[in-house]
Amino acid sequence: MGKRTHMLEQLVGDSQSLDRALAGEELSYKDGLELMNYDNLHLLGAVADNTRKKLVGDTVSFASSYYMNYTNVCAASCQMCAFYRKEGADDAYTLTPQEIEQRVGIAKQMGATEVHIVGGFHPTLPLEYYEDMMRAIKKSHPQLNIKALTAAEIYFLSKLTKNSTKEILSRLKAAGLDSMPGGGAELFHPDIRGKIVRGKCTGQQWLDVIEEAHNMDIKSNVTMLYGHIEKPEHIVDHLIKIRELQKKTNGFLTLIPLKFSLDNTELEQEHLVNNECSSVYDLKIIALSRLMLANVVNNISVYWVAYGKKLAQVALSNGGNDLVGTAFSEEIYKSAGKTTSSSVEELATMVKEIGRVPVQRSTHFDTLKKF
Ligand code: SF4
Repeated sequence: MGKRTHMLEQLVGDSQSLDRALAGEELSYKDGLELMNYDNLHLLGAVADNTRKKLVGDTVSFASSYYMNYTNVCAASCQMCAFYRKEGADDAYTLTPQEIEQRVGIAKQMGATEVHIVGGFHPTLPLEYYEDMMRAIKKSHPQLNIKALTAAEIYFLSKLTKNSTKEILSRLKAAGLDSMPGGGAELFHPDIRGKIVRGKCTGQQWLDVIEEAHNMDIKSNVTMLYGHIEKPEHIVDHLIKIRELQKKTNGFLTLIPLKFSLDNTELEQEHLVNNECSSVYDLKIIALSRLMLANVVNNISVYWVAYGKKLAQVALSNGGNDLVGTAFSEEIYKSAGKTTSSSVEELATMVKEIGRVPVQRSTHFDTLKKF
C-alpha cells in the first residue's frame, strides 16, 4: 500500500463510503448519496485524486478538436439550452455541404485530428445530408476522426426518417462516422430530465441508442449535465447507469461532466436557476464521478471551456485526467457567453503548471504527442 493511501486511510475513518473507495471497492447508490452530501471536500478530492493516480497515473490528455455545429435550427426547445433557434429566425443557420467542407479544411490546417459535429434537431434535413457530409469529409481528409451526432440526434433522425436507429447508425458508419460525442445524455432520471429538456429522447432511449452504437464498434463519450435544478440522487443514478452500460459494452471512452451554463436559457428566464453552481460543487462532481466509475470508466474529463483554465487545473487535482480538447470554434458555449479555444501548447502548459504530464491524444485515447 502506498504512503499516500495509508495516510488517507487514517483520515477517512468517519466515512464508510470513502473507506470503500480507498480500498478500490465498487460504490453503491447509498455510498454515492453519502458522498454527494459529504462536506469535507478536501478529503473527498484527495481520495479521488489518489484513485486517479492509481488507475491512470499522472498523464493528462487532450485532443486537438474542431467543433462544428451544422445547424442551430431545432425542433426541440430544451429549458437548459441557449443555442437553438426556430426555422426562419433571423439568426437561424444551416451549413451547406460546401461550407462544411471548407470548415473541415480549416480544421485540418489547424492541426485537428478529430471533428466534433453536433447540431439542433433539424426538422427537414434528410438522412442523405448527413451521409453526404461524412463522405465529403472522408474524401478530402481520410485521417480525420468524424465524431458526430449524439445519441439524441440519432433518435430524432430515426423518428424523422422512419428508419430504425440501427439502420441510421449503420448507414452513417458506412458513410464515415467513426465515433460519437456524449451529448444529449444530460441526466437520465425521468424526474429531472422532463424539467430540463423538451422534445428530446428519454434517458433510456439515449442509453439504448448508444448501446447499439457500441455494439457496432462505434465508441462514444458520455456527458452529465449538472448545476441546475438536480438533486444528489439524480447525479448518482446517472453515474450508476453509465457504469452498468459500460460493463456490458466497454464502449464509453470518457465521462465529461458538463457544468450548466446559465445565460440565455429558459431556466434562467423563468428564474428557476439564478446562479451557476459554485466551484465547490464542480469539484465534488468531478471527484464523485471518479469514485463511482473507478475501474469501469477510467477517463474523467474536465471541460475547461466551461470551468476556465484555473479551476480546470484544480479539477485535475480532484479526480480528472483529461481536458477534452482544444475546442476550436465551439458555438454552443459561445451562445451562453463562454470563451472557447486554445492551442495544444497552451493546454500542455496548463498541465505542466500543476506538475502533471501532458499528452495529446486521439479520439480513442491513443497517445499522439508528448510535450
Ligand atoms: S439542447 Fe439540443 S435538442 Fe435541446 S433545444 Fe438545444 S439544440 Fe435542441
